[in-house]
Amino acid sequence: MYTIAENIAVIRGKIHEAAKKAGRNPKEILLCAATKMNDAENVRQAIAAGVDCCGENRVQELTQKLGENAYEGAPVHFIGHLQTNKVKQVVGKVDLIQSVDSLRLLEAIQKEAAKQGICQHILLEINIAAEKSKSGFSVSEVWELVPHISQFPNVKVLGLMAIPPICQNPGENDKFFQEMYKLSVDITAKKYDNIEASVLSMGMSDDYESAIMSGSTMIRVGTAIFGARDYSK
Ligand SMILES: *Cc1c(COP(=O)(O)O)cnc(C)c1O
Repeated sequence: MYTIAENIAVIRGKIHEAAKKAGRNPKEILLCAATKMNDAENVRQAIAAGVDCCGENRVQELTQKLGENAYEGAPVHFIGHLQTNKVKQVVGKVDLIQSVDSLRLLEAIQKEAAKQGICQHILLEINIAAEKSKSGFSVSEVWELVPHISQFPNVKVLGLMAIPPICQNPGENDKFFQEMYKLSVDITAKKYDNIEASVLSMGMSDDYESAIMSGSTMIRVGTAIFGARDYSK
């Protein structure tokens, strides 16, 4: 058994190597700890060991850990599927909502952010492998949306996020990572108001090195930091 700090040191080393191989600056790649099913104490250990941010999946866990000041010292992101009836509990409470996966949710976030008088930073989640089981914008939907993004003055799109299929073999998701990178570059090139596609959130415990090779700027890592999650509880 390794400690959380030891695991993070190993991951930092691998980020460094992958970045170097790709001719990139390792500082461009942020490490987001996917903290689902981990308690406040584990979250604090990860922050003390220098993760760049924490990502929470479920509103209930987010609310509980916010109440425990678990994220003190690091930005907190929402990375799970967000139901429109729960936006109030997330908007204004997190630094970034990474998982904006539908127009309906975007509208709900805009409405709540306007009500609070804030600008909520978000990422658009892309269903890059067009999986039926997953939410997210398709590539054509996102191209329809981005020219009109200034209609959402209380949100700012900082980039894109994707959760490609669970991969059985290394390299399997490379084509999806590369498509995401291209999409991100192409959207940025258009210089739309209110959109800055500089963040590209992709890569998890099993595939973050390939994601970095393909241009990821933020990896979301759970298992490799905290160990396997116990779903029996
Ligand atoms: C759980 C989760 C991760 C991290 O997954 P691991 O395989 O444990 O690293 C990343 N992104 C999202 C959206 C998640 O829900």
